[in-house]
Amino acid sequence: MADKAQIGTMWLGGCSGCHLSIADFHESLLDVLDLAEFRFSPVLMDTKYDEVPELDVLIVEGGIRNDENRELAEMLREKAKFIINYGTCACYGGVPGLGNLHTVDELTTEAYINSPSTTNEEKVIPNEGVPHLESRVRPLGEVIDVDLNVPGCPPRSDVVAAAVVALLKGEPVELPTTNLCDV
Ligand code: SF4
Repeated sequence: MADKAQIGTMWLGGCSGCHLSIADFHESLLDVLDLAEFRFSPVLMDTKYDEVPELDVLIVEGGIRNDENRELAEMLREKAKFIINYGTCACYGGVPGLGNLHTVDELTTEAYINSPSTTNEEKVIPNEGVPHLESRVRPLGEVIDVDLNVPGCPPRSDVVAAAVVALLKGEPVELPTTNLCDV
């Protein structure tokens, strides 16, 4: 590859723990940076969501919990040639998927009114200026096409680093069949 590939990361409905595993690339980061440059990431650089460049590879954390997640996912699919569906939340819904045991009304009432840490005597549930929850959490792959699933909570740093390097070299990506989690 003559020019360096353009790569990025993004988070949707997750906890940002998957991004910590990217920050833990350690010396593998040098292998990645030999082949690519980061152009977009809410963690690694000052990123504006309305100024996403064209990307060769995008690593996406988190599933689709709300309408903002969906809008961003659809926009990112247009921008990225190859999307790594990164982490258990992105692949399956993960911890946020536990919200599927309840209705949206139950979730918002618990979050804004009933939770022990909330003081909301007027019982206001905000509706403007906040993303709206969808009826259920969906894995990212249910909403946009994804190109590679890398589950784990979070995935092991060495696994995703090796996957990115293989992709950038045009080599087959081989994931371990067990022990994908970085814990
Ligand atoms: Fe957080 Fe785990 Fe979901 Fe990653 S997979 S966003 S670490 S809960």
